Amino acid sequence: MRVRRWLEGPFPSACGLCGTGVGPGEALCAGCLAELERVVAPCPRCGEPDTVAGPCPRCRDREPRLAALHAPWRYTWPLDRLILARKHADDATAARVLRELARRAAVELADARRAVEQGPDCVVPVPLHPERYRERGFNQALELAREAARVLEAPLAARLVVRVRATESQQGLGRRERRRNVARAFALRPGAEFPEAARVLLVDDVATTGATLDALAEVLYAAGAARVEALTLARA
Ligand SMILES: [Zn+2]
Ligand SMILES: [Zn+2]
Repeated sequence: MRVRRWLEGPFPSACGLCGTGVGPGEALCAGCLAELERVVAPCPRCGEPDTVAGPCPRCRDREPRLAALHAPWRYTWPLDRLILARKHADDATAARVLRELARRAAVELADARRAVEQGPDCVVPVPLHPERYRERGFNQALELAREAARVLEAPLAARLVVRVRATESQQGLGRRERRRNVARAFALRPGAEFPEAARVLLVDDVATTGATLDALAEVLYAAGAARVEALTLARA
C-alpha cells in the first residue's frame, strides 16, 4: 500500500473517522481500519459470513449467477454510516475513506488471486439510472470501481451497461421482492463493444442479497462474458 502514497500528493491528512493524523494520501488510521468488522469465513459465491465450508445452504439451493463475491467488511458501524453519508449527503470525507477501502479491498483481491489466475479483463461499476445520477451528481460505485481498476490494472468499463429501469429502493424488501425489483433493470448499452469471453469484475459499495449483482451478471453472461465476479466494500 505504501508505494502508492506518492500518487496521492505530499500533504499529510487526518483520519476520516477519528481525526488522528495519518500519512500523506491515507484516509484512515491503522486503529480505525482494524476496528472495521471483517467478514469471517464467507460463502465463496455470495459472501454470506460465517459459512462453514464451501457455498452456503442458500447458494447450494439456488445457484447465484455471480461466480464469486468478494466483500472484506461487514455492513456495520461505522462502514454503514460512511456508505450512507457518501450516497445521500455527498460527504467528501466519507468519499475519501471509501476510496481508500476500495483500494485496500482490490489489493486483497489481487493478492489472493495473483498465484491462482489472471485478473479481470474489465471492471464495471453498478450503474445508476440516469435520472438518479442527475439528482445525485455522482455514482459512488464508479468512484470505487475506478480505484479497483487502477489497483488491478484492468480497464474501467463505466459505460458498458446501463440501468434501463429506475428501480424502487431495495431497502426494506425481502429476498424475493429484491430479485423481482431488479429483474430486467439492466441492459448492455446499445452499440457497446463487449470483449469476447471477458472476465468481468462488478463493483458496488454494498451487497445485501446480491440480487442487483446477479441481475447484472445475467446481462453480462448473455452478452458472452466468461466469468462475472463482484467486489463490494461491505456485505450486509
Ligand atoms: Zn482513525
Ligand atoms: Zn452463498
